[in-house]
Amino acid sequence: MKMATRREFLGGMAAFGVLGASGCAGRMRGSGEAGKLPEQGEFVIRNAYVMTMDAATGDLPEADVHVRQGAIVAVGRGVQAPGAQAIDGRGMIVLPGFIETHWHMWNALLRSMSGDKREHGYFPTALNLGKAYLPDDMYQGTRLGCAEAINGGITFVHDWCHNIRSPEFAQANLRALRESGIRGRFSYGAAQGHPATETINLADLERLHTDWRSQSNDGLLALGLAWRGVSTGATGAVAATAYRQDFDTARRLGIPISVHANNRKGSDAIALLARDKFLGRDVQVIHATWVSPEEIRALADNGCPVSLSPYTELRIGFGFPPTGELLAAGIPVGLSVDTTALSGNADMFAIMKAIQNIENSRTNNEFKLPARRVLELATIEGARSMGMDERVGSLKAGKRADLIMVNTREVNLGVFSEPAHMLVEAAQPSNVDTVMVDGRILKRRGRLTAIDVEQTVSEASSALAAVRKRGGWW
Ligand SMILES: [Zn+2]
Repeated sequence: MKMATRREFLGGMAAFGVLGASGCAGRMRGSGEAGKLPEQGEFVIRNAYVMTMDAATGDLPEADVHVRQGAIVAVGRGVQAPGAQAIDGRGMIVLPGFIETHWHMWNALLRSMSGDKREHGYFPTALNLGKAYLPDDMYQGTRLGCAEAINGGITFVHDWCHNIRSPEFAQANLRALRESGIRGRFSYGAAQGHPATETINLADLERLHTDWRSQSNDGLLALGLAWRGVSTGATGAVAATAYRQDFDTARRLGIPISVHANNRKGSDAIALLARDKFLGRDVQVIHATWVSPEEIRALADNGCPVSLSPYTELRIGFGFPPTGELLAAGIPVGLSVDTTALSGNADMFAIMKAIQNIENSRTNNEFKLPARRVLELATIEGARSMGMDERVGSLKAGKRADLIMVNTREVNLGVFSEPAHMLVEAAQPSNVDTVMVDGRILKRRGRLTAIDVEQTVSEASSALAAVRKRGGWW
């Protein structure tokens, strides 16, 4: 991530007209009021290479994208947009923002902290340090995660929050999501070390659901359930009475459900979910690296989407994502970060590259998973897997304006050859020049506009030091 000095950051803000008369000093403090996000203006990106990721339209070289009040008005050549602020798109690939489908964002404080001995592995680290978190640590972790997401062109995150130790933890986490301006789903889960015999705080979940309008950032955020499921977790098997009540509450409230399953050899969690009628279009399954043909059929028959996080699956030894088998069965597949405690970073370009390379290598087939198909998983298909494809995931008039501009005139991207291949094989977060979410410019000319990176990293570092101390962690 490029580090902007505070002066450069403020300069960039002023140049972009996002500073009010009062300036912004103090308005993004960790404990202060939510910062005011950049306005949804009217923009026209001119003469870019536009990858709409819309099957009917395809790619449009030297095309324009017109955005007004958060929506895409037009995509095409010679778009008329009098009064719109013009953004030069020459040398840029414009495409939908990346859709991330499962990420424990509070873990961002624990970047690269999964150690080399069993007692310092990911699960004990998350458990012991998670117990030492205070609500503000949830804010700090999630804000850092949001900054990294936006910096790398991720415009939608599925924040799988499994450290809600009291309602204040959820509130602090949600505040970070709102302040960042990102789009996403916040999935409400248990705390680290939560008793396996008890339900999560269902009263708090229901309260949030009832009052969701005040949390949703004008519809940018949705609520879900981070379900522990039927399988054995890091802290033991969850009691049937508890997981059933959690599940039934989400279904009654009509909120989507997400569950980790089949990440260890011999696991039959998906078969159990199928047997007990827990599968459905509203139930996302994460990992499924050890999945039988029967289980794939059950997922497909029930319309269950699957989220794959190749870097954590590789790093922790969950095995290889069965991307080809899932896609062949017609299962909606999305890509995910999971946790930077294991993956180190949240680089969707690298995730796409890993998904392609693993699949081709696994099948000894150079042509098995084409770059453009991988790009679909990170955009429109990822959106479909999250039930968001009517709103985002492709560039089309009427959809919300979530898009990114990738600068192809940088040393790792020049020359302009095959754009889908360039994005999957060559691009990296530093090439993301501009990021727009809901028509708000959150990154411009390589710098974040609504998050002060220097302050975010510095406060997150202090928070981690305190968490380590409280947790008595090495
Ligand atoms: Zn996970």
